[in-house]
Amino acid sequence: MKSYSRRDFLSRVGMGTTLLTVPSIMGNAQQTFGSQKKLGIALVGLGYYAEHLLAPALQQTKNFSLAGVVSGTPAKIDKWKAQYNIPDKNCYTYQNFDSIAKNKDIDVVYVVLPNSMHHEYVIRAAKAGKHVICEKPMAVSVKECEEMIAACKKANVKLSIGYRLHFEPFNQEAARVGQKKEFGVVKIVESSFGFKIGDPTQWRLKKSLAGGGAMMDVGIYAIQAARYCTGEEPISVTAQEFKTDPVKFKDVEETIFWQMEFPSGAVSSSITSYASNTERLFISAENGWLELRPAYGYGPLKGRTSKGELDLPIVNHQAMQLEDFAACILENRESSVNGEEGLRDMKIIEAIYRAIASGKKEKI
Ligand code: NAD
Repeated sequence: MKSYSRRDFLSRVGMGTTLLTVPSIMGNAQQTFGSQKKLGIALVGLGYYAEHLLAPALQQTKNFSLAGVVSGTPAKIDKWKAQYNIPDKNCYTYQNFDSIAKNKDIDVVYVVLPNSMHHEYVIRAAKAGKHVICEKPMAVSVKECEEMIAACKKANVKLSIGYRLHFEPFNQEAARVGQKKEFGVVKIVESSFGFKIGDPTQWRLKKSLAGGGAMMDVGIYAIQAARYCTGEEPISVTAQEFKTDPVKFKDVEETIFWQMEFPSGAVSSSITSYASNTERLFISAENGWLELRPAYGYGPLKGRTSKGELDLPIVNHQAMQLEDFAACILENRESSVNGEEGLRDMKIIEAIYRAIASGKKEKI
């Protein structure tokens, strides 16, 4: 027997056949704003995620146009200009980026750089008076997150973090089942995300650019899931680090196991790793369970509950996330994945690293 059908989900969250609107728990998604001019967005950093996920997703949005690029590589700028019909005046280097303040074509700046550069570029974008989307992890420390939030507040611009899964139906359903106590109170969350990392020279393995290893990169998804499935903030954490390749992982962690306690008594158990693939979310509640596997990648995601398979829409995560931020700007409301949401995860990540160092339970 099926527990939740695609049709149930569509009617519950008010979806038409192609547009998703206002899921109840985790945020909003696509709406159209009539004949209003599209918001211009500039991508900062033209790496893999910008090129293969964000740029194609932008083409699917109704309220954004890819209006500008910021890059240190002239050849990339030439390629993007030609592919997306971007005028010269909307192309910037990291040096002249601040002059984007004068550019009326650009409403939003999307920072897609290595993690340790997020802080600088979000603050520069805010100072230029642009709304900002910042990729996850928001930054590499709590202090940086707080400074980014303060800079955006001061400049009166909106800040959103690239938490695409808040706008993805399977994860939304997991959050709904947990938070609405569909199977009673959630007692246990198992939530893990890891992959086998390749090239040993990449920035993800350098602490100065990545801020940490697997935890900063993909462990953050497992933290997010435990939080949105319980609807609670963890109060303490214990954690253990494992390293099998001290040469490749001389600078950052390879594998971390951690456990979090929540105020209701729910507990979570998670793994993040650069050594091997793991991608699963499992919640066990008083009267049933839900599992997503795969849970966090670009999809198609899959899931089931103790009642049967989940039959939910397969969407473009990035387009949904982008469209929600456009709606936040056009309706002048706060993003559900704002800077505070990024900061919450960074506080947990810092507590996890403290717990590894101390070998003890750390308060968050
Ligand atoms: P990438 O290595 O493919 O791209 C990074 C870009 O930054 C490149 O264009 C590179 O030229 C530029 N750059 C500028 N200065 C650099 C420096 N000093 N060292 C290295 N690169 C430099 O990385 P990516 O996978 O596109 O990740 C970029 C950001 O996006 C990261 O914060 C990552 O966590 C995030 N990301 C998010 C998702 C998601 O699903 N939300 C997926 C992938 C990446």
